[in-house]
Amino acid sequence: MAAINREYRKKFYIESYGCAMNFSDSEIVASILNDNGFGATGNYIEADLILLNTCSIREKAEQTVRQRLHLFRQVKQSRPGMLIGVLGCMAERLKGKLLEEERLVDMVVGPDAYRTLPGLIEEAETGQKAVNVLLSRDETYADISPVRLDSNGVAAFVSIMRGCNNMCAFCVVPFTRGRERSRDADSIMRECAGLFAQGYREVTLLGQNVDSYYWMDEVADKIVTFAQLLEKVALIDPLLRVRFSTSHPKDITDEVLHTIARYENICNYIHLPVQSGSTRILQLMNRTYTREWYMAKIDRILSLIPDCGLSSDIITGFCTETEEDHQDTLSLMAYSRYDMSYMFFYSERPGTLAARRYADDVPEEVKKRRLDEVVKLQNRLSLESNKRDIGKTFKVLIEGDSKKSAADWRGRNSQNKVVIFPKEGGSYNKGDYAWIKIAECTGATLIGSAVQGEEIN
Ligand code: SAM
Ligand code: SF4
Repeated sequence: MAAINREYRKKFYIESYGCAMNFSDSEIVASILNDNGFGATGNYIEADLILLNTCSIREKAEQTVRQRLHLFRQVKQSRPGMLIGVLGCMAERLKGKLLEEERLVDMVVGPDAYRTLPGLIEEAETGQKAVNVLLSRDETYADISPVRLDSNGVAAFVSIMRGCNNMCAFCVVPFTRGRERSRDADSIMRECAGLFAQGYREVTLLGQNVDSYYWMDEVADKIVTFAQLLEKVALIDPLLRVRFSTSHPKDITDEVLHTIARYENICNYIHLPVQSGSTRILQLMNRTYTREWYMAKIDRILSLIPDCGLSSDIITGFCTETEEDHQDTLSLMAYSRYDMSYMFFYSERPGTLAARRYADDVPEEVKKRRLDEVVKLQNRLSLESNKRDIGKTFKVLIEGDSKKSAADWRGRNSQNKVVIFPKEGGSYNKGDYAWIKIAECTGATLIGSAVQGEEIN
């Protein structure tokens, strides 16, 4: 929690679910609340206001939130006057219905309405239910300085755009987060430079589809593309690492790849969700690329950035998926040699293109069995990828203590792999860079020791 020496009249507690964007939004909410007399607490028992920043991407995510709401109902019974608010995608999807379904909820606030939170809290304090789920075409919260929650003080998320204009058939995001809009590049630069001045050494530029970032600089009468934004942020300081997420395969350009290759501090890592390896399923998903096109994109990335780390998102059991389609996904994963993937079985979401057009006809046990096969293959690919790194030396940004032992440091290399090494014999601090020679690995971690001078290459 960022240290702020202010007197607050009330306390709020916030829990975030889902994607990095939601965690980043919670930091904007925290900033708005701080400015209105609410200080954060990590203990919901003592909170005057409990907020859940929710996710709707899969049914399971919504169920988790409902379970939490039932727990908070008990807390509220023993603390009359305490308010409970649901923020984010689930608020946007269910709107006022949420107030009927979850009677203890006092406020329902969509992702573009956080500036109105202070007024909504006042309304709820009078005993009325408060709702604002209006989506905006231009809200980017550009002028709000996020209050860093649960930060390690080394790496931070910086939101560069909101919403999404892609209509992937399975996805609820365009409905819950609205139209795509890009944030003012100058405010992004100010936020990144400010983070660096505070000691942060890594920023991850966030958006649902970062490669379609597009901002008109009216003063210079120039358009800023994503590649140009990346370059600007990289030029803040060579010690500031730059990452970004997420790239849609159809939109990532050669200009972006060349920019990554040109700057040492832009990390050699791309999260490039494929979703499926079957061209037929990709078409049903409305992803707008084919299997072969995606493979050519992987080839292109590796030809320009040979040591680029790659990861993906994969969905099993999308509508009409056959065993042959599933085999196509497995073979595409093997071709792409992903270092890591986020893997899900398909969960139909009301209102999406797929829910309206296609039957959710793959039985749940088949979806889960295919997911299991995808996970097993990914585990093997991750281990193989890590084994290929044994003997190599990487520049590692130290994020803090290893989770298992305070005698070891934990950091990441440019390819986003976790690297563990002993503290003994070195005099490093959190936020420092160290050169680590890898001696062994697990499927999830590289393990090595620090090297100096001529040993580095
Ligand atoms: N905009 C990003 C992209 O295009 O990759 C991320 C979108 S979403 C927050 C993250 C991932 O959730 C998606 O890439 C997809 O794999 C998964 N997902 C989205 N809708 C889903 C659904 N209905 N069922 C299962 N997984 C889903
Ligand atoms: Fe959803 Fe597709 Fe937009 Fe990603 S690009 S948020 S998967 S619609």
